[in-house]
Amino acid sequence: MRLGKFALAAATAISSFVFSASAFASEVNLYSYRQEKLIRPILEEFEKETGIKVNVVFAKKGMLERLKAEGMNSPADAILTVDISRLAEHKEAGVLQPVKAEQAEANIPSQYRDPEGYWYGLTVRSRVVFYAKDRVKPSDLSTYEDLADPKWKGRICVRSSSNVYNQSMLASLVAHLGAEKAEAWAAGIKENLARKPQGGDRDQIKAAAAGECDIAIGNTYYYGKMLTSKDEAQREAADKVAIFWPNQNDRGAHVNISGVAVTKASKNKENAIKLINFLSDDTAQEFYASSNFEYPVKAGVQIDKVVAAWGEHKFDAIGLDKVADQQAEAVKIFDRVGWR
Ligand code: FE
Repeated sequence: MRLGKFALAAATAISSFVFSASAFASEVNLYSYRQEKLIRPILEEFEKETGIKVNVVFAKKGMLERLKAEGMNSPADAILTVDISRLAEHKEAGVLQPVKAEQAEANIPSQYRDPEGYWYGLTVRSRVVFYAKDRVKPSDLSTYEDLADPKWKGRICVRSSSNVYNQSMLASLVAHLGAEKAEAWAAGIKENLARKPQGGDRDQIKAAAAGECDIAIGNTYYYGKMLTSKDEAQREAADKVAIFWPNQNDRGAHVNISGVAVTKASKNKENAIKLINFLSDDTAQEFYASSNFEYPVKAGVQIDKVVAAWGEHKFDAIGLDKVADQQAEAVKIFDRVGWR
């Protein structure tokens, strides 16, 4: 049953919010930042396999505020969201509880799950470099660090520092290089920007295709979406750039996850754990990762062919909890260097 979108501006709507009663003997209730089309088919598969009804509220914002406002009265058992910084933010706010999902622990490499069991990564994306094929040679590129070199002055497009993907990318640099070097890097990138940060990741690729900049920083799945878009302009823009995987000779490309976590208020905790186990296993992994041009967290799962065409490459193996630990520092650094 579709319950519609919520926006937390309407705080009064919270008290009247209920998941509908259903014919299933048991159920599990989700708040999701992930789009319906990415997960609905696998949730239906879970319902068929287990007899557990999955009710979902899809939203674009306001999830944490809502969970805080609802407290222990929240009807939500679990949340689906993207980015390590968001998962960590929910953990820190005290709206989650740790759980032990044994099958998920076996399926998901430890770098992609919280050591305490507060969140489990389900799909992997990387934040990489896209370069204008007619103006940049891949041999000119090497690492994230190198993008701060003055040779790229006026040539880089990247979105705002208020964006969590950028915050996690910088947090990973803080974790690897220390705050001082990470700040010098952020200041260097700011100096090299072709324009004021604006738009989403796709807009950076479009700008590189249009000649506004030579380099765009963005998440891998947006490139997959553009390459396969119904919109000819997006396909054409994507065709003008190529993907470059940074830091292949050292730590690997920066990675992030979409994930799942159980709420502190959960009344169907066992069902939520069953769902986490299911989402970490082969059938769900293949569909969920492919549906958004992401990588499965579980090894050996079939990768979408568009994604597979980008080749084999090395991902940063750092535990994402270590990246999350530097999130607040990253935000401060962005403010100090004036990335905006
Ligand atoms: Fe995104």
